[in-house]
Amino acid sequence: RVPRERKPDWIRVKAPTSVGFAETKAMMRRLNLNTVCEEAACPNIGECWTKKHATVMILGDTCTRACAFCNVKTGMPRAVDLSEPQHTADAAAELGLEHIVITSVDRDDLPDGGAAQFVRVIEALRRTTPTTTIEILTPDFRNKAQAAVESIVEAGPDVYNHNLETVPRLYPTIRPGARYYASLRLLESVKRHDPSIFTKSGVMLGLGEERLEIHQVMDDMRSADIDFLTMGQYLQPTPRHAKVAEFVTPKAFDAYAGIARAKGFLLVASSPLTRSSYHAGDDFAKLRAN
Ligand code: SF4
Ligand code: SF4
Repeated sequence: RVPRERKPDWIRVKAPTSVGFAETKAMMRRLNLNTVCEEAACPNIGECWTKKHATVMILGDTCTRACAFCNVKTGMPRAVDLSEPQHTADAAAELGLEHIVITSVDRDDLPDGGAAQFVRVIEALRRTTPTTTIEILTPDFRNKAQAAVESIVEAGPDVYNHNLETVPRLYPTIRPGARYYASLRLLESVKRHDPSIFTKSGVMLGLGEERLEIHQVMDDMRSADIDFLTMGQYLQPTPRHAKVAEFVTPKAFDAYAGIARAKGFLLVASSPLTRSSYHAGDDFAKLRAN
């Protein structure tokens, strides 16, 4: 184990300075779009934006929840921006994206939890850039999950992602406001409604979970028919957030990947800098080509 005070060498990333990075940033400002790359202080932003890969975060930049690991600001969000779906599609067209990942803040204040905006974004993307494959990463929609899933699945994304984030034992401190089994059931119901949609989930490691608890999460995911798994190192965005309990070594990430593949996941991404949207397009394209 590596002491938690010092970031190990395998976590260090280069500062974002490329032309591609500056252009992606300028375009997001011009279209008035938020990205999880910036809001979550993602360590891969230099690499991804240089390649013009970005994950758009819809429904504003303010979340109604306050998870202990997340850098997105909490508060009362603004009204839904109805120009956001078309702006998102314009961004995908301008960047020439073959695959786009769309996520959102939690909107527990809205009667539909924000599901209708996901539907509008999928429709705008299908109209504007029909060959782009669409991956959505949604909140749990709390007690509105069933209706939300039905309407979004009906709109036909290619991949439906919802992160379990951590093991059930750590939910009360790390993901208060969410329920582990409700998140699993949400993903299970996506598959039940439309088995042609790929389902995906992810966990952060280094929050104090035990190895066998991760194995159990993998088993739970497979029994909910989840197809893709991502695992990455949790990094503390600010001193106010949950502390890193452990820096998991690259070798341990590889070992988890081997176990996940043996358990039957179709796609597994597991490394310290893996995030749920990291290389998502490349991995999905490879899967479709096979
Ligand atoms: Fe953005 Fe995802 Fe890349 Fe991070 S890994 S910079 S969130 S696209
Ligand atoms: Fe961050 Fe999502 Fe939690 Fe909101 S619900 S604080 S966006 S992880």
